[in-house]
Amino acid sequence: MPSARCRSQFLPGTNLEHFRGDERGFATTVVTLTAGALVYHFKLRSHPPPGRPWRRNEIRKRIVVGLTECSMTHTKCLAPGRAWSTHVWVPVLFALVLGVAVAPAPADQYRDRRLIMVRDQIEARGIKNPEVLAVMRTVPRELFVPKSVRPQAYDDHPLPIGFGQTISQPFIVGLMTELLDAKKDYRVLEIGTGSGYQAAILSRLVGEVYSIEIVPELARSAAETLRSLGFRNVTVREGDGYRGWPEKAPFDRIILTAAPPEIPEVLLEELKGGGTLVAPVGVGVQNLVVVQKSADGKTTTRSVLPVRFVPMKEGTE
Ligand code: SAH
Repeated sequence: MPSARCRSQFLPGTNLEHFRGDERGFATTVVTLTAGALVYHFKLRSHPPPGRPWRRNEIRKRIVVGLTECSMTHTKCLAPGRAWSTHVWVPVLFALVLGVAVAPAPADQYRDRRLIMVRDQIEARGIKNPEVLAVMRTVPRELFVPKSVRPQAYDDHPLPIGFGQTISQPFIVGLMTELLDAKKDYRVLEIGTGSGYQAAILSRLVGEVYSIEIVPELARSAAETLRSLGFRNVTVREGDGYRGWPEKAPFDRIILTAAPPEIPEVLLEELKGGGTLVAPVGVGVQNLVVVQKSADGKTTTRSVLPVRFVPMKEGTE
């Protein structure tokens, strides 16, 4: 929806570049309607007597008078009695059609925002991996969030996805994906499917993604979103991440998108030698950590930055 900011920008500049892509159509309609109303008003009140042509001076004077009256009394502009004649609705229709024609298609609006998001929130903060950046420029984040928050899909913060859960801020998704250092043939385990967005990003970078979600409704809707968008190498399972996924282990990479108090031992066991695990860890104060497991099974952990994730829930199975 066009915002109040958009409307107030209309008068001073009428420069369409002032408007965000999706506000352009609205701005164009308003400009055309206003111009149409003024011209219409002028024509109604300024017809010379039948048979007599326009005089130049007369036109100018009447325009001035017309504009003044228009600004003094709004009702006079609409010529009472004829307001809904074709004189009105044809220009209105024209203005609307023009607005629709100028407005970018919804998919383009989101593509524009996605490119800006990657440039300003991800690249600008130091994410360099070109493959991560390329994937984040293509995956339609707006289709992973509830309709009610879709307009904020590319904003610089987490968003609610229902059931008290959130989809991470785009930068955190970019950072964790880069830290994971994924390769085309890797098998990756994600704990906390949520909306499925992080899994979708990974799916374009690795061989196979296995994702566990504890909230049944989220597991179902994420699986459906991923399926409908063609992310075929992602398998979503409803379950408790504390139990890992023994049938599919070991994994080259593991990513947690809910925070446990400490990294579950079972997940470290399911990580291949030489593998990497990225996770938010802690209660209250959380740190994003990267765990490297050496070929002989030893692990080293480094902290990257403080973060705030939803806590990882203990399952009841
Ligand atoms: N990666 C998600 C964001 C996840 S939010 C995305 O891209 O949208 C964290 C998710 O972890 C929530 O959906 C929550 O239900 C889930 N979760 C919490 N505890 C869990 C557990 N023990 N096992 C699996 N999933 C869990």
